Amino acid sequence: MDVSAYLALGQQIEVGEHACPGPGCGRRLGGWSGYWRWVRGRGTERLWIRRGRCSTCLRSHALLPDFLLERRLDEVDVIGHALALGIVGRLGMRSVADRLGVPMTTTREWRRRLQLRAPALAAALVAVAVHLDPAAVVLSTDGEAAALEALGAAWQRARTRFGERVPAVWRWWSLISGGKALGTNRSPPFAQRSGADWMVLIP
Ligand SMILES: [Zn+2]
Repeated sequence: MDVSAYLALGQQIEVGEHACPGPGCGRRLGGWSGYWRWVRGRGTERLWIRRGRCSTCLRSHALLPDFLLERRLDEVDVIGHALALGIVGRLGMRSVADRLGVPMTTTREWRRRLQLRAPALAAALVAVAVHLDPAAVVLSTDGEAAALEALGAAWQRARTRFGERVPAVWRWWSLISGGKALGTNRSPPFAQRSGADWMVLIP
């Protein structure tokens, strides 16, 4: 679903059935509520995020749409584009910010966060890629660039295996990380979804 369609639904948004992401749980979430959050795009708008509760874990989990990341105001496509311009395109984050119309402090924070997470991200994405296709993944770079390279490799394999049901690369990045791709949590993302089980999340 694209952003405008999601926004238009307001609190009527339906998220289908989701399994609890709690460690070793996987039961169906119920007891829906939600909360409002902001998304910056053409203007800044409020959207409703569904929150489901697991009756076993007694915890609730937010179900972010795949065009967002946790704690990030901008769409993941914008964040990804900025990171690619900076890392692959070798533009300074000030130029990136100007080009995308985002505050420079914001683009720098994305970049800093990716730098911190790069080794864990690259390792997790290589694991996803190998799970999808056992051929070895050879990375020609390191650091942040390797994280993006591993993302590209994993996404290509997902597309080859599952076709058009796999969303575009940055949304897929959000999807398989449960929105935590640039999170502040130290544990590597994708821990729950390094298997093909993330495919169940794709309607
Ligand atoms: Zn649970």
